[in-house]
Order: sequence, then C-alpha cells, then structure tokens
Amino acid sequence: MSDCLFCKILAGEIPADIVYEDDKMLVFKDLYPKAEVHLLAIPRVHITSLNEVSDEHDEIIAHMIKQLPKLAKEQGLKDGFRTIINTGKGGGQVVFHLHMHLLGGSNLPGFQ
Ligand code: 5GP
Ligand code: ZN
Repeated sequence: MSDCLFCKILAGEIPADIVYEDDKMLVFKDLYPKAEVHLLAIPRVHITSLNEVSDEHDEIIAHMIKQLPKLAKEQGLKDGFRTIINTGKGGGQVVFHLHMHLLGGSNLPGFQ
C-alpha cells in the first residue's frame, strides 16, 4: 500500500518513535498523544481495518493483543490501560491500516 502512512512507517520512509518491533508487528508513539502514554500497535502486513481481518490473520491478531499488557507494563502503566480500535469513518478511523491504540497514565480521556 504505497499511499498508506503506516506502511511508510514500516518501510522506514517516515520516521516514528518505535518502542517495540518483531516479525509480526510494530509499536510506536502516537504523534498526537491523547494521554500520557499513547502507543499505536500495527501489523506488518497491511490490513485496512478490523473489517478486513480474516482467518488468515488469527496468529497476528492474537500475538498483537497478547503483547499489549507487556507493552503497558514496560511503559509504567501498573494500574491498567485502555485499548481502542477505531473501525471505518463512522468509528473515527483516520489512518486506514489496522492499529490498536494503547493509552494510559494521566490525562486518559473518557469516551466521547
Ligand atoms: P485513528 O483515528 O485512525 O484510529 O488513529 C490514527 C492515529 O494516528 C491518531 O491517534 C493520530 O494522532 C496518529 N497519527 C497520525 N499521523 C501520524 C504520524 O505521522 N505519526 C504517528 N506516530 N502517529 C500519527
Ligand atoms: Zn498500510
């Protein structure tokens, strides 16, 4: 996906503050953080949104979700964290490469 912002970050064409990466996923700081800690976890493969997730992605999705608590602890979020996946325009999705928001710490926003 040549016009995908997050694919460009994966390719190293756009800089990002990367906090974790492995063969399935990349995790970096949100450029416009909505809380003290605000990370974005993305799969290395381009999946447009949760609407496009299928059986072939089971391993990737499970792996990503299981990494989130570890990432939260590494960020010092001992009391918990919030995970958000916006799906489609109606769900507030702006970047159309599946991503999991990991938020926590002070200034954690409520649902609006
Ligand atoms: P969405 O609204 O699609 O669920 O979330 C997209 C997120 O990407 C937003 O929280 C926004 O702040 C973040 N974002 C947008 N452009 C960039 C960028 O160039 N770099 C990084 N690191 N985050 C970005
Ligand atoms: Zn992409």
